[in-house]
Amino acid sequence: MKKIDHVAIAVADLDAAESAYRDVMELEWEGREEVTGQKVMASIFNIGECRIELISPTSDESPIAGFIQKKGSGLHHICFEVDDIEAEMVKLKAKGARLLNETPAEGVGGSRVAFLHPKSGAGVLIELTVKGK
Ligand code: ZN
Repeated sequence: MKKIDHVAIAVADLDAAESAYRDVMELEWEGREEVTGQKVMASIFNIGECRIELISPTSDESPIAGFIQKKGSGLHHICFEVDDIEAEMVKLKAKGARLLNETPAEGVGGSRVAFLHPKSGAGVLIELTVKGK
């Protein structure tokens, strides 16, 4: 695990959340990007070497829609950058962690990602990412 790549916050109202982070807190706004695989629109902010992603469902079938329905808007996951996602997944599995992916999935900006069940992350969903190649 190299560093925190981003912190993702699930939001029901993307315009309002975007305004809070951009216009009130004045974080550097990078723009929006749709992640079709996850059925979400992500609004991305830079803070230091880390990003904040506000993620909002684009469909009722999005896993984020279910999350918001159950828990409301709030912290969704923390993402750690790794060098070798396959090797990290094998290692975590061997140590008894519950992974939600068998193989890495498509993430923001052409990255590849995998998720660790919240039960294996002290109640927080953990994402692993490797930069797109
Ligand atoms: Zn993420």
